[in-house]
Formats: sequence, C-alpha cells, structure tokens
Amino acid sequence: MMVEGSTRNLRDLLERVRNWALANSPWLVHYNSGSCNGCDIEILATLTPRYDLERLGIKLQGSPRHADVLVCTGPVTRQSRDRLRRIYEQMPEPKFVVAVGTCSISGGVFRGCYNILGGIDEAIPVDAYIPGCPPRPEAIINGVALLLKQLQPDRADEIDNLMVEMGIDPHAIPQEEDLTDEYADPIGIR
Ligand code: SF4
Repeated sequence: MMVEGSTRNLRDLLERVRNWALANSPWLVHYNSGSCNGCDIEILATLTPRYDLERLGIKLQGSPRHADVLVCTGPVTRQSRDRLRRIYEQMPEPKFVVAVGTCSISGGVFRGCYNILGGIDEAIPVDAYIPGCPPRPEAIINGVALLLKQLQPDRADEIDNLMVEMGIDPHAIPQEEDLTDEYADPIGIR
C-alpha cells in the first residue's frame, strides 16, 4: 500500500515537472508535407537573430521523439500522409500541432490537385492554424505565443512583453474570417 502511494506520488511529481518544462521550453519539430518552401523559409527566419524565437524558450530540434510541438507546412500530399502520421505518433504526450500557412490549412493553391488530400487536419489533429501565404515571421511567432499562453496562462504578460520587445503586437492575432476568406482561399478555388 505504502509502495503504491509512493509510486503514485513520484508519477505525479514527474508529470508536474514534465508539464512545467513543456510550458517553459517547448521543443519543436518541423515537417514539410508538400510545401513550396515559402513557409519553411519564414519559419527559419523566426529562428534567426532578427526574431530569435528562442527568447520565448522555444527550441527547434530534429527528432519527433523529443518534440512537444509539430510545426507543419504545406498541404498533405498522398505521398507524405503516412509519414506525417508516423511522425505524429512518435511524439510523446502531451503533444501539439501547429499548421503554418494557407496550404496547411486548406490545401491553398494546391487544392484540387490529383495528389493533394487537403490541409494538415486531413491526416492529424491540429491545435493552432497560422494563416498567410506565406505567413510573416511575426504571424508565426504570434501563433506559437498564443499556444504558449494557453499552456501557461500565468506567463501571458511575460510572453506579451517579449513580443513587444521583438516589435510584434501580441494582440494582432488573425481572426476566424481571415482563415476562411482572404487567407484560406487566396485564388478562389472551392
Ligand atoms: S502557403 Fe504559400 S508559401 Fe506556404 S506552402 Fe503554400 S504556396 Fe507556399
């Protein structure tokens, strides 16, 4: 009985430490499931010294087994769907998915092509959508910051202040109408 209680306490403690570490320093893994590379270049721009996303405690690394957040670009092609699912399944819980760019939301300019299944949520669940073709680094940082603030609400002011230091308006979050009209369907394909 005593051993069971101790094991449960240890498990709870490990869980709390893990959640604390995730909220303070989420590790990202990036996957291009069919992008034209425009969105990928903007993601790289967020990591370089001009924007320096690491200031928010975020780190890009290579293995899905060590990642908390999967950042996806591009539509899902038939060829990439199973790889995308495998990457998602390899990530430990809790895990989050951010879809960057119009194509990752709806298929964008590739929508309707014979080899395109649609947006990322055709293959895996998505937690945050960042519209734009491609989205500017400010929009990507805004989307990631929104996710961080949901994970750790008591850090919201600190994150907002860091964004202001970067020259980004922390409240300029794209609205739902942006997702469905101007951004999600830029060339009018239905
Ligand atoms: S949203 Fe635009 S930049 Fe991004 S993958 Fe699609 S076409 Fe390329």
